[in-house]
Amino acid sequence: MVSEKMYQLGSNRSAIRELFEYGKMRAEIVGKENVYDFSLGNPALPPPQAVEDALIDLLKNEPAIAVHGYTSAQGDAGVRAAIANYLNQTYQTNFHKDNFYMTCGAAASLTICLRAIIEKEDDEVIVIAPFFPEYRLFAEAAGGKVIIVPPDMQHFQIHMEKLAEMITARTKAVIINSPNNPSGAVYSVETITALCKLLNKKSKENGRPIVLISDEPYREIVYDGLDVPYLTKYYANTVVCYSFSKSLSLPGERIGYILVPDEMEESGKVYAAVCGAGRVMGYVCAPSLFQKVVGRCIGQTSDIETYKRNRDLLYDGLRTIGYRCVKPQGAFYLFLKALEPDAAAFCEMGKKYDLLMVPGDSFGCPGYVRLSYCVDGEMIRRSLTAFQKLWNEYLK
Ligand code: PLP
Repeated sequence: MVSEKMYQLGSNRSAIRELFEYGKMRAEIVGKENVYDFSLGNPALPPPQAVEDALIDLLKNEPAIAVHGYTSAQGDAGVRAAIANYLNQTYQTNFHKDNFYMTCGAAASLTICLRAIIEKEDDEVIVIAPFFPEYRLFAEAAGGKVIIVPPDMQHFQIHMEKLAEMITARTKAVIINSPNNPSGAVYSVETITALCKLLNKKSKENGRPIVLISDEPYREIVYDGLDVPYLTKYYANTVVCYSFSKSLSLPGERIGYILVPDEMEESGKVYAAVCGAGRVMGYVCAPSLFQKVVGRCIGQTSDIETYKRNRDLLYDGLRTIGYRCVKPQGAFYLFLKALEPDAAAFCEMGKKYDLLMVPGDSFGCPGYVRLSYCVDGEMIRRSLTAFQKLWNEYLK
């Protein structure tokens, strides 16, 4: 009657959703303020005021037919030009509107991009642990085979020797995500330079380009004045998958884009394949109203300082207790070393103190847990007592 694979995917609730439901149940018993839910990556801050201003102006002053009608499949030309101008000014690039294809967020950007570039059954897509678990589904649904590079446990940069070993003649693409979910790491210029040198060398050996897919929904969410290298400047065969879900706190509105730069080999063909993939997947066009909103708000973000305060509070608090973790440089996740090898068991123990954490196993990194700190700062402050109790539990 149905595809067994889709049935399995649809009927097994994700571990994160499961935790979210559990948190709601506990809140009814012990009170909302006594549940410390670090499970979801749903931005806790409102969008900047510019979003509301743009929405009101568009709804009041623009013709409803233009605001709510279809745009071209690639997206509104004025919006794409505004994005190109912003990136050119910010990163000294040379993009134009026809490098951009508007999408329903990063998930759509990735699925369309993978569908566009995967040619054969045995094309391999390399992901770098720890990685966003949906990559596996997206790549497999596009007909690819996922190859996982084990994590660099020291700094959560890229384990370059392992990556070099794992690239084969079948490698079609490498997906990277910086700032990273779940580690909070930002890949340094050194990492990016070494990665691009390796990809250029291997592409030459293979006689076909390896596509670098840069998944960047957290690009603007970085701390301490850190730069996030702009990938197309380092490697010509880069496709950028962007989303406004996190930068503008608009995850429910489903808006982002794919960038195919001119520098890319056969860029016109790749862009056309992106349009074709979007078409077969039935996307038609990205939400019209929110295309126009982001076009007007380009360059704005939610209040990143609040996320930084949360990062400092959580990181300093946990380190003072004695926990081990790499200081997050971006995104809004902290990757904590579990106090026992089995991260799922550690998370179960955390529940005893109403601490809700996500095991790192599904991110390809056992022994760690992800804490999402896009939450209320006061909750973080209160949770530290629970983290202390959890620590004491393991010292007993
Ligand atoms: N990629 C990463 C690394 C993410 O963390 C997320 C969402 O959390 C996505 C992609 C999907 O984002 P979107 O809401 O834009 O589809």
